[in-house]
Amino acid sequence: MTDESQPHHVTVDRYVERYAARARGMVASEIRALFAVASRPEIVSLAGGMPYVSALPLDAVGDIFDDLVGSRGAVAMQYGSAQGDPGLREQICEVMALEGVNGHADDVVVTVGSQQALDLIGRIFLDPGDVVLAEAPSYVGALGVFASYQADVVHVPMDDDGLQPDALRDAIARTAASGRTPKLLYTVPNFHNPAGVTLAASRRAEIVDIARSAGVLVLEDNPYGLLGFDQEPMRALRADDGDTVVYLGSFSKTFAPGLRVGWALAPRGVRDKLVLAAEAGILSHSVVCQLALSQYLANHPWRDQVKAFRELYRERRDAMLGTLSSVMPAACTWTHPTGGFYVWLTVPEGIDTKAMLPRAVGARVAYVPGSAFFADGADGARHMRLSYCYPEPDRIREGVRRLGAVLEEEVEVRDTFGTTGTPARGLDRPPPNL
Ligand code: PMP
Repeated sequence: MTDESQPHHVTVDRYVERYAARARGMVASEIRALFAVASRPEIVSLAGGMPYVSALPLDAVGDIFDDLVGSRGAVAMQYGSAQGDPGLREQICEVMALEGVNGHADDVVVTVGSQQALDLIGRIFLDPGDVVLAEAPSYVGALGVFASYQADVVHVPMDDDGLQPDALRDAIARTAASGRTPKLLYTVPNFHNPAGVTLAASRRAEIVDIARSAGVLVLEDNPYGLLGFDQEPMRALRADDGDTVVYLGSFSKTFAPGLRVGWALAPRGVRDKLVLAAEAGILSHSVVCQLALSQYLANHPWRDQVKAFRELYRERRDAMLGTLSSVMPAACTWTHPTGGFYVWLTVPEGIDTKAMLPRAVGARVAYVPGSAFFADGADGARHMRLSYCYPEPDRIREGVRRLGAVLEEEVEVRDTFGTTGTPARGLDRPPPNL
């Protein structure tokens, strides 16, 4: 039934009163509207975190699908298992071995991207009010999951070497003082989204020790681990403790997000729950996507492809860092990622990156304001995330120049009027694929 009293373009939601409490935080923000504008061709978007899939051997991928459907169509088009294809799970163990992880295929659960693994972990561990420790800032899609299970996120500071062990101890002690034990520590140790930093090797064992002694399960979310520019892959946290750490991996950044294949490597009991939760949610994964990926890993030089991605992203990182140092106003600082997709920029005091975004979009450049990466949206006003993964190097340079000009103007306005406008408030979470 339609509501005849309302003009066509106004949506009246008759179900507002009936949604579950967990749906309360699921609101589209004004920022989403801006990102819709930001996808116009004249705007350089440094906002999106989309892998540069045009660099893939798309013809070869097409051939794989052709062969598969021709030779094993009846299997490929059928339901599969909720744990995932056994052959692919073996191959996933070989991928993880590059980071020192000695996992068994029985303990791997294939997921619909690592995003589904995050959701399944939330589903099996989090009751409303449970505490999740997460880096400050944190991946926006993980924050969305924790919010949907009504968890309380306690942010733990990082520095250029990633999560700070002392700050983690403090956060656990503060949580204990309020009568609670955190259930999870969520961390992205390599080439962090959004901060662009990597957890130092010297901190890794300590972080896991602290979590273990406090009875906190570590969620190691590692989609970028193989995308380091200058070094061999870092040793995973999971490599030295298979009981305390659940490892999440993904082929989205090393191959293609369109296949939607990620995984979790978990202790046995957790694995069983993950499989049951996945079954309840999706019955089974896309078999055709898993088999295509399995073929690709078996018959193509996938390590060379990862190397090609690394080189491509390194060139783009260099374009971004080089231009930042020549155009940014004094008092701006930024991280220097050694892999992955992101730079975290800190702007001068008195400038609010969310309030500034419409002016930046007007100047034909977009970024993600820092507030999106904090659970309550209250922090992050002096930060923004810049991605260098998608635009070509020249576009990156142009985008950073435009951003530099906008920031120069903001500084001038601040110096003249003492403020650049009303500080933006509230929670504004962009789509997680940004
Ligand atoms: N974790 C992090 C840190 C990410 O950056 C992303 C994608 N942006 C994901 C998880 C989810 O990726 P996917 O579901 O495509 O594997």
